[in-house]
Formats: sequence, C-alpha cells, structure tokens
Amino acid sequence: MKTIHGIAASPGYACGPLHRIGRRTIVPERKAVAVGEIPNQIERFRQAVEVSRRQIQELVDRLSSELGPEEAEILSAQLMILEDEMVWDATLAVIRLERITAEAAFARAVGDIAARFHKIEEEVFKERVNDLHDVEQRVLRAFQGEGCCQIDLPGEPSIIVANNLTPSDTAALGRNNVLGFLMEEGGNTSHVAILARSIGVPAVVGMKGLLTQLDFDLTTAVDGTNGQCIIDPDKEILRRFSRLRSEALVANEKLAGLRDLEAITPDGHRLKLMANIELPMEVDEALARGAEGVGLLRTEYLFFQHHTIPSEDEQTEVYSDMVRRMGGRPMVFRTLDVGGDKVSDYLGAKREYNPFLGWRGIRFSLANRMLFKTQIKAICRAGLAGPVKIMFPMITGVQELLEAKAVYEEAVFELEKSGIPHAGNLDLGIMVETPSAVLVADLLAAESQFFSIGSNDLIQYTLAMDRGNSRVSYLYQPLHPAILRAIHNTVEAGHKAGIWVGICGEMGSETRLAEVLLGLGLDEISLHGAALPKVKQVIRWTKFSEARSVARHLMGMNTATDANEWLADYIGQRKKDRMERENS
Ligand code: PEP
Ligand code: MG
Repeated sequence: MKTIHGIAASPGYACGPLHRIGRRTIVPERKAVAVGEIPNQIERFRQAVEVSRRQIQELVDRLSSELGPEEAEILSAQLMILEDEMVWDATLAVIRLERITAEAAFARAVGDIAARFHKIEEEVFKERVNDLHDVEQRVLRAFQGEGCCQIDLPGEPSIIVANNLTPSDTAALGRNNVLGFLMEEGGNTSHVAILARSIGVPAVVGMKGLLTQLDFDLTTAVDGTNGQCIIDPDKEILRRFSRLRSEALVANEKLAGLRDLEAITPDGHRLKLMANIELPMEVDEALARGAEGVGLLRTEYLFFQHHTIPSEDEQTEVYSDMVRRMGGRPMVFRTLDVGGDKVSDYLGAKREYNPFLGWRGIRFSLANRMLFKTQIKAICRAGLAGPVKIMFPMITGVQELLEAKAVYEEAVFELEKSGIPHAGNLDLGIMVETPSAVLVADLLAAESQFFSIGSNDLIQYTLAMDRGNSRVSYLYQPLHPAILRAIHNTVEAGHKAGIWVGICGEMGSETRLAEVLLGLGLDEISLHGAALPKVKQVIRWTKFSEARSVARHLMGMNTATDANEWLADYIGQRKKDRMERENS
C-alpha cells in the first residue's frame, strides 16, 4: 500500500482499476488506389507533413523560450526526419509502386527505415527509432485531421489517469465509465477539475511523477476530499471508502428533498441558483438537482465534440434541443471561449507562449466574425424554444463589448432580412473575469444587462497565477482581500446601474463560501449540479443579515490565510450550534 498526495480537486471517494489516457497508436489500413489517384495521394502526404512540421516548429519555439535551446534540440531532430530525403523518397516510391494510400505508404516506409536502424547496435540509432515513431504518429494524426480526438475510452468503470487532459479529451470522455481522475498536472480550476466536479466524481490533480509510481495491475483508491490516492489499498481502507460513499449517498438523498424549494434565507432574501454545464447531457441532471436555469453554458465544449465547425443549422438544432429541455427556465449561452488552455486546431486557435494572455475568448471571436455571428444567429434562433441570454467572455473594456454588441445587431438584422424566425431583444451580458473589467465595471454596467463573475479567471489574472500550473496552485485564494474587493466592487457597480450580478466560477461550488457570496450581495450563483443542493441548504440556513456581517468581517482581513482560518472556525461553530439545537 502506498499513498501519493496531490491537490484535492473534486471531493468524493472511489476505488477501481486504472485507465491511462494516452494517445492511441494509429495503424493505417493498407488500401489500394487507382493510378489516377496517385498525384492526389502525394499531395495529401505533402500536406500532412506540412501540418506536422508546423506543429513541431511551434513546439520547438515554445520549448526553446521556456526551457532553453538544448531541450528544443530533441524536437529539432524530429523536424529533420520530416525533411529527410530517405523518408520522402521511400514514401513516394511506395505510393507509386505499390499504389496504396499515402498514410499506408508513409507508415510502411517509416517501418522499413526503423527496422534498418534496429539492426545497428549503436545507442544513437535506437534513439532515432523512438523519434521516428513519434514523428510517424504525428503525421498519421495529421492525415486524420488536426483536431481529431485520439484517446482510448475506458471499457469498464475506471479511474482515469493521465499527465493532463485537454478540454477536447474531457469532452470525448464525458462520464462514460469514469469513477474518478488522477492527473500529474493541473490545479483547482483546470478543466479536468471542473469536469470532475460537474459529473460528481472525485479528482486529485497536480501529482508530479504520478505515472511512474502507479501500478496498472493493482486497484487504486482516490480520495478527492483530501487530495490523495492510495495504491493497492488494504481491506480497512476499502471498507472505509465504501462507508464514506454510502454516507455521501444518504446525505445526497436527504438533500434531494430540497429540489423544489427556493434558495431563500430565513429572513426572506432570495438568491437564484443556476447550473453550469458543458454538454447537452448535463441538462437533465441540472434540473434533477433543482437548478432554476443554466447560468453558464460553456458552448466551446459543443464545438470540441466536432472535427469541423458546426453550421448555423446544426448549432441551432443542438441549442434548441437544450433550451426546450429546460422547460421555460432561462439559459445563458456564453459565446465561444477558445484559446488559453482550450485549444482546438480546426478552429484555428493555436498554442501560444503565453496562452492565457493571448488570443482567447472575445478576442478570438471578434477576429473570426463570421464564426461569431453564426453562433449568435443560432442562439437567437434557439431563443424560440425558450428564454435565452448571451454572455461574452474575457471582456476587458467597453470597446470590446460595443464591438460584440454590433455583431449581435448584425446577426439579428441578417436573420430578419432573410425572414428566419428568431427571438428578439435578448439580454446581453458579460463575464467579469479580468481585473480590467472590475476596474471599469461601472462603464461596462451601462452597456450590459447582467454581469457574471468568472472567478476562475479573475483569480488567475488578479493574483497572476496560471490556473493550470500546479506549482502555483497554492495561490488559488478565493478569500484573498483582492478577490473579495473585486467581487464587492463588481456587485456595487452592477447594482448601481440596476443590473443583476451573478458568479459562475468555481468559487460558487464551494459550500464553505456560499455564505460569503450571499453576504457579498450576489443575485445569482451558477454552479455544478452536484454542488447545488448543499449550497441551497446553506442559503436556507443562513440569515442574510448574518451573511452580510460575515462578508464584512472577511473584507476587513489582511490575508487569505487569516480569512480561511476565521471562516473555518466560524463554520465549525455554526455546525456545533445547529447540532445542539437539533438534539435539544
Ligand atoms: C471562469 O473563468 O470563472 C469561468 C467560469 O470560465 P472558464 O472556467 O470556462 O474560463
Ligand atoms: Mg473564464
């Protein structure tokens, strides 16, 4: 038995076999082609090599700036393979002589070269064989389309293990056979952490060196509440985990009784509790947990499930179906938020040196106006199926908002001109997730119908901590005075302008923070379905006047550490008081 520690990213307990997500090895089928097809196959080969060359070059540039030229040297060797005459000549010869598809010819040519290297005893040639295989798989992936998702899905309920998962990997994975997650990389608000909380399975992230320590033949236990995993747990641990899981089930059943009750404090203050969702399948679950609507639909996940850009009609169909299933409850569509760590090659968002400060969110959409306008049109059309609102991500100032609103006006105008039925006068709001948006919240409020605070990015940008980097994850401090002030200022500015202000970042899913958010005056919390009942319970237990003074007290503290300690004591004391009251 061995315990490995990491960052507790999603609470809960699970035991089971491990399933490693790695890239699937592609073995192309040997398919014959007609003689007239040969030039086309050669062109396909040229294009696949070019795509791979660009990808490797980008990695080389990134590695040399991040780690120095020596590290990048390894990849430069791969670039040389792509340009190697031996590889080109052999592949073209196989296409011409054996008349097979370019991918089959390329794999065959690389296989022959690798076999020759294998026979040479020197270590340097063995290394080259590894490089050759790496390059081979990259080119074969390029043949299948750059954005293709290449992961092996688990065949039985398993704990998913990986260095890290991209949002497109998580979209492909969904909840199929997923018992929990163990990741080498990532922090509390990395996308795999968000997905785990959303589907209610435990996750531990930021476990450096994990993959070398695991034994894939042994059962492993995940303790997402305390941030650890136990390899080959003994009977005692298995019994304890099974007891904790049953206790959680009982607690959830109790909370299920709250489903149709309002989120209202004992002194009559009403808050809206909405759901954050990524995929259509989450709609029903959100409703089952008592969500009053969807406060954040991360639409990019719908795009990640495709290999090409979905058309306006396709988007309208998917969006309308989701809106219809909401049965008259509102749904906030956040327009595409690609870039940052959400990169999708077919959309054209690329890996960058400084991705979170790069081409993401509204910047990407404004630079791809047709794509942006198409999405807005589809949302307007889906508005016929029920109430919808549009929310723009990563807004830093009024100029961007005005430009986004102009694209909305254009979309509506074109729909009208073409006589396509659609909903009109949609509410347009913004994510407040950059420090700049907080500082000019009064100006933005004059141009918005609502605000939703994206605390994940707001914390990242305000405290200058990369949300996906486990080394700095200790800086994820929702109770840092700067964050509390940012939320307070945003709520004040919004209310002064007469608009509602919500929060849809992960802070909203933390039960311990529910009273603080209530006290800060937020009108809406949008959170994961799995966390919703517990947060509702807290709201129904807490007087608004008390929550106000808790928030005021925390705002007066100098450090996040002091604030965390004080809040933990306060919550502990309240729990004790409640138990005493219930027992008396
Ligand atoms: C946020 O930044 O808080 C947010 C909700 O958006 P995302 O996590 O998708 O960046
Ligand atoms: Mg964000």
